[in-house]
Amino acid sequence: MECSSRVIIKVEDLVYRYDSVNALDGLTFEIERGEFVGLVGPNGSGKTTLLNCLSKLYTPQNGYILLDGHDLRELTPLEGAKIYAVVPSEFPVDMNISIVDTVLLGRYPHFEGFWWENERDEEIALNAMEKLNVSGFADRKLGELSSGEKQRVMIAKALAQEAKVLLIDEPVAYLDLGYQLEIMEMLRNLANEGVTILAAMHQLNLAVKYCDKLIVLKQGRVVACGKPEEVVTQRLIEDVYGVKSIVQKIPEAGLVIIPLSTSNNGGALDKETCEKRTIESDKASARWGSVEA
Ligand code: ADP
Ligand code: MG
Repeated sequence: MECSSRVIIKVEDLVYRYDSVNALDGLTFEIERGEFVGLVGPNGSGKTTLLNCLSKLYTPQNGYILLDGHDLRELTPLEGAKIYAVVPSEFPVDMNISIVDTVLLGRYPHFEGFWWENERDEEIALNAMEKLNVSGFADRKLGELSSGEKQRVMIAKALAQEAKVLLIDEPVAYLDLGYQLEIMEMLRNLANEGVTILAAMHQLNLAVKYCDKLIVLKQGRVVACGKPEEVVTQRLIEDVYGVKSIVQKIPEAGLVIIPLSTSNNGGALDKETCEKRTIESDKASARWGSVEA
């Protein structure tokens, strides 16, 4: 059980089974310090289960996780909370707490012996709020905010925790295009400052644009892992999502994925239309020099 100091997360042969479902079926991968990693794959492929194993919410039946050189099984919750912070896809039901108090809760692993925060805790919380652009509504209640604002508050709370690793489940779900870009840009900036980020997400085009690396899951297995431009191809999109697409490099935008139709026709398109679209997509691919392999 060794890993180089460059590697902050090492997962080896990880297995997690619910009663009748093999949700993670022998996952192996590594993440380096300061990498922004997109965890992608269809619904049910195991993304949330993996994040729950990494945050010790679930105990895997097999394999192991090394986090910053420590065997995760041996870390106490408090030790763990100094290494990783979690931003779940759904937020707590009790929304009657103010924004500043929510972010201050992120300081709990650092409170020593008593609950009340000191000036340093407050300063760190305020800095995190500035960074995520939420200081303007510090005294408002969580329940009063829009999804995008809430998401930013929860990331600020995770940041206040001063963890080295952020585990984020669907950071841009439910957000409009502007907020999606804003959150991704903020996460990119945090990674540039040295925070390691693992974000489960469905928005492939955003993952390709902002992430250093993608881990692609299918039925609880890693089917690809590497730089987005090396990993994402038409064949991969079809194999993993069952979707025909054009994957193309555009000078102003980098790699983009344009979905065309489900490979099995999805029941939505008639055979003739589907065949026509496939021929058109092949022509377009040839014209634009798309990434097929
Ligand atoms: P993702 O986040 O990629 O959508 P999940 O990790 O939520 O995938 O789910 C992986 C698999 O485990 C799916 O087949 C899902 O149905 C199953 N699963 C998830 N949560 C539970 C649960 N609490 N009990 C039983 N099966 C579950
Ligand atoms: Mg999920």
